[in-house]
Amino acid sequence: GIRLNEEIGRVKQIIKAAQIEFECDEDFSLTNVSLLTENILSMCLKEAVTNVVKHSGATYCYLSIEQSWKEIVMIIRDNGVFKGTKETVTEGHGLIGMKERLEFINGSLELVSKEGTTLTIRVPNDVK
Ligand code: ATP
Ligand code: MG
Repeated sequence: GIRLNEEIGRVKQIIKAAQIEFECDEDFSLTNVSLLTENILSMCLKEAVTNVVKHSGATYCYLSIEQSWKEIVMIIRDNGVFKGTKETVTEGHGLIGMKERLEFINGSLELVSKEGTTLTIRVPNDVK
């Protein structure tokens, strides 16, 4: 499994190599999160950033991860152009894979394309 902080380090390098400006909050220490949830968040982050690099044509990408008493919310936003259609989330590979894994841990995926693409990933806090 991959810890979220390791994956953040990796995606920073991928984005930098693609010459996309990257911004993120510095402190991502999650508390009381199962390894399964962390691995799924890492996998979603990797796929989301791969999509930004492959499809968006963006010059800027933003990442935020916030944990509240209820859930963890991870947002990946770019300023490119969304190339998919309404059906994309049901026919693609990466996005549908993300959605299926998130549903497995009662999480959700929301994609909004407006002045770029914003992916909002929510997972409940699961370690009691
Ligand atoms: P795979 O993930 O299997 O390599 P894929 O990236 O084409 O294939 P998805 O990740 O499901 O499949 O994405 C579906 C489609 O949505 C992409 O082909 C692309 O057209 C569009 N898309 C996804 N993310 C972005 C993005 N950040 N910017 C622009 N278009 C996007
Ligand atoms: Mg993809």
